Formats: sequence, C-alpha cells, structure tokens
Amino acid sequence: MDKVILGKTGIEVNKNGFGALPIQRITKKEAVYLLQKAFYNGINYFDTARAYSDSEEKLGAAFEYTRDKIVISTKTAAQTAEDMWKDLEESLTKLKTDYIDIYQFHNPAFCPKPGDESGLYDAALEAKKQGKIRHIGITNHRIAVAKEAIQSGLYETLQFPFSYLASDTDLEIVEECKAADMGFIAMKGLAGGLIHNSACAYAFMAQPQFAHVAPIWGVQRESELDEFLSYQVCPPALDGNLLAEIEKDKKQLSGDFCRGCGYCMPCPAGIEINNCARMSLMLRRAPQEGWLSKEWQEKMKKIENCLHCGHCMSKCPYGLNTPDLLAKNYEDYKTFLK
Ligand code: SF4
Ligand code: SF4
Repeated sequence: MDKVILGKTGIEVNKNGFGALPIQRITKKEAVYLLQKAFYNGINYFDTARAYSDSEEKLGAAFEYTRDKIVISTKTAAQTAEDMWKDLEESLTKLKTDYIDIYQFHNPAFCPKPGDESGLYDAALEAKKQGKIRHIGITNHRIAVAKEAIQSGLYETLQFPFSYLASDTDLEIVEECKAADMGFIAMKGLAGGLIHNSACAYAFMAQPQFAHVAPIWGVQRESELDEFLSYQVCPPALDGNLLAEIEKDKKQLSGDFCRGCGYCMPCPAGIEINNCARMSLMLRRAPQEGWLSKEWQEKMKKIENCLHCGHCMSKCPYGLNTPDLLAKNYEDYKTFLK
C-alpha cells in the first residue's frame, strides 16, 4: 500500500485519501458505513470542510473511537479571526475531537500572513499554540495565491486541483511544493466528474515523480470506494491502453473548460453555473438521459435570464468568460433537444 509523507508536517498517509465533500449527499448511516469501510481497508486520511454542511458531523460519528488512528484536515472560509475561532470550535464539536491535524484556509482570495488586516494567520498560530490544530495549511484554485503561499514559507500543506489534465503551470506548483517540503494535497483528481476512468487517474498519481502527492478522491458510492481500494491491491499499470485513454481525454478537455468548482456562485439569476457551464462536456462524457430531463431543461433555460452582471467572471479562479461559456453551452444543449 503506497504511503505519502505530507511534507514538513511529517504526517504519513495512505496514497488514497478520502475527500468527504460528497458524503453530504448521502444519509448519516450510509456515510458512516462508507467512512469506516475506507478506514478498515487502510485509508487513514480524511479531508472535509466547515462549508460541507454535515460532512464533519458524519466524520465525527464514524471515528469517535478511532480518532487517534486517522488524520483529519478541515477548512475554514472565515474572513476574520473572530469567525475563524467560531468555525474552529464548531469543527471540533462536530468532529468529536479536541484537535485538527491540518487546519486549512479554504480558498481565500489572498494569502493570509502574520500581522495582516484579517488576523487569520495570527489566529491560526494561536490555535496551534493551544493545541487545537497541529498544522496550518491552505487550499486554493488560484495559481497566484498558491504560488504566494508556497513562497511565503508559512504553510505546511497546499491543497490544489490536480489531475492528468493539469497544465504546465499546475505541474510547476506540484514541483515547487516538493522543493519547499510542503505537503501537496490533490483535490479534483477526477476533474470534478469529467474524468471517468479512475484507473487512469490513480495510475497517473502513482508515478514516482508524484510520490509526494496525496490525492483525496471524492467518494459518495460504495462502488467508487471499491474501485480505489482495489487499486491498493492491484495497482493499474500506466501502460499503452491507459496512456491512450489519458491522451484522448486531454484532447477532448483541453483549453478553457468549466471545472464545476462553483466558486462563481451564487448567481443573481439563479443559474446553476457549475453544471450549466460544462453541459456540453457532460452530455458527451456521461449518459445523456439525466441531463436532458425536464428539470435540467428548466435549469438550462435560466441562462436566458443572465443579467451579464459579470459577478461570476470576477470570481472564476480559471479566468473564464462564464456568461459566454453559458451561452455557448445553452446553444449546444438546444441541439440535443431537437
Ligand atoms: S453574469 Fe449572468 S451567469 Fe454570471 S452571475 Fe451574472 S447573471 Fe449569473
Ligand atoms: S465558471 Fe469558473 S468558477 Fe464557475 S464553476 Fe466553472 S470553473 Fe468554477
């Protein structure tokens, strides 16, 4: 079973980490079953966030009696020190623990530093002093913030989107983390649902140059968990077949595409941007039926009400022209309804 050391934290985790965002969508009983099954099969790293509704609570229910055997990272999207303390206390209560292994600033638009106006970093340092958190990390989708966090030397881990669709700049970030001895936690290893071949995704991450990369796979169904567990026993080889699959995906998913992160939302016109702006890809990469339902037709029709306010564009970490992308996806969508 491959292990990863999370940089200077010295924490050793299983190469398969568990991304606990999707367990929001299942019942507590189902979530506890899934989490404990992962744990009993060697997964020891679980990543959640205060913002993932009841995900922390479900983790707390699953691991109340095995807390010291696992590594938990959670996140705060607080903008002030006061709110960070509130978030931290709430996370500790929900997770039924008295410490967080890695406490991360959740995709801030800037890199918190000691003495800055937000007071966030100073508060995290104080929480570390009090033993409520063990390591300070940051998550981000913005290349500039991620680079600043690495260069600052203030953070022990970086969580950043990384999959086989990564650009050269993304790869630079992975390398820079290694050089800075920072743990690299890879989110969106399946590109937000656009990558369907988990064997390709796993084999890509298992390459020796990514030995310091800890992917956290978002798991909602038992079958998804089973796939990743099976790779621990029989690792897929990055052979000609898998490389050909990866190349095909890279060709299809190159350029400016919506990653479905949802950071551009909410939209004042009620448009579900994170799905509507990548509908053309979903229609071609997943069974079409569900996306063409009445419910989805209504959701897509809301694109007609776009106010062109530009809020989404200003928040998109990938610099996409979101209204334009929505309009193109809508035009394409209508051709499937004819
Ligand atoms: S530009 Fe359109 S899609 Fe974007 S936030 Fe405004 S109304 Fe919503
Ligand atoms: S438009 Fe940008 S911010 Fe919005 S979901 Fe897509 S990638 Fe994320």
